[in-house]
Amino acid sequence: MASALKPAELESYREVLLKLRARLRGDLDQMTDEALRRDQPDSSGNLSNVPLHMADVGTENYDQEFTLSLIENEQVVLEQINDALVRVDSGSFGICDECGEPIAKPRLQAIPYAKYCIECAREMEKRG
Ligand SMILES: [Zn+2]
Repeated sequence: MASALKPAELESYREVLLKLRARLRGDLDQMTDEALRRDQPDSSGNLSNVPLHMADVGTENYDQEFTLSLIENEQVVLEQINDALVRVDSGSFGICDECGEPIAKPRLQAIPYAKYCIECAREMEKRG
C-alpha cells in the first residue's frame, strides 16, 4: 500500500520529529541532572524546557522517583521517534504497522511518532 502522505508532508513530519527529539533530549539531560542533584536548593524556576505535563504538577514536590519514571517514559518516546524517522525514510511513515491502513492525520499531528492507527492502538491497550 502506498503511503497516504505526500513527500512534502513526510518532510514536514520529519522536521517535527527532529525538533521533538531535540527537545526531548534537552529535557532528558535536564531531568537527569535534577534527579541526580536533589540536594541542591531549587533555584531556577526555569520551566521553559519542561514538558507541559510536568509544569502542571506541583513543581516543588514531585519526588525523585517520579522524575525517574518520567525519564523512562521519555526514553520510550525517544525510541518511538527514532523509529518514526526510520519509517519516514523507508516510506512507511503514516501507515499503521498492525493493519496497514493509513493513520488518520489528526492522530499523526497529535502524535507524530504514532506507529498504529487509533483502532489498533485501542485494541492493543485492551489486550494489554
Ligand atoms: Zn491499524
